[in-house]
Amino acid sequence: MVHTGIGYDVHALVAGRKLILGGVEIPHPKGLEGHSDADVLLHAICDAVLGALGEGDIGHLFPNTDPRWKDASSRVFLEEAARRVAAANGRLVNVDATVIAQQPKIYPHIAAMKQHIAAALSVTPKQIGIKATTNEGMGFVGREEGIAALAVASVDLPE
Ligand code: MG
Repeated sequence: MVHTGIGYDVHALVAGRKLILGGVEIPHPKGLEGHSDADVLLHAICDAVLGALGEGDIGHLFPNTDPRWKDASSRVFLEEAARRVAAANGRLVNVDATVIAQQPKIYPHIAAMKQHIAAALSVTPKQIGIKATTNEGMGFVGREEGIAALAVASVDLPE
């Protein structure tokens, strides 16, 4: 039976941090603030996969009070989610995600993001959808104070 999960995340944009999105470092004057590398897209996808499994969210699995995850590459979170799919005898069907950012332009980096995410989840890039939109200048995203991401994931699980 196919189970679908949803994920949402947001991180603040601040000076003095690298901008890592979908595992790809994007040249930009500001980066995302957080305990790990603050990769908002990977965090949303991770929560979507965990949601499809009915498991606790990323904040439960990798608390930001744990020094092990300080400046950690968020790829490890995605790899753990994939490991849990396998442990449940499941098969990841697909992931679809939207990055909501006023700046920078995301589109030129989408192919590299798909490669990175597919590798972390042990699936093919065709199973990963990534889209991007601005917030039309409105709200915290529009003021470039932060970047948000939404994701869904479907996992085929035994009955
Ligand atoms: Mg996060």
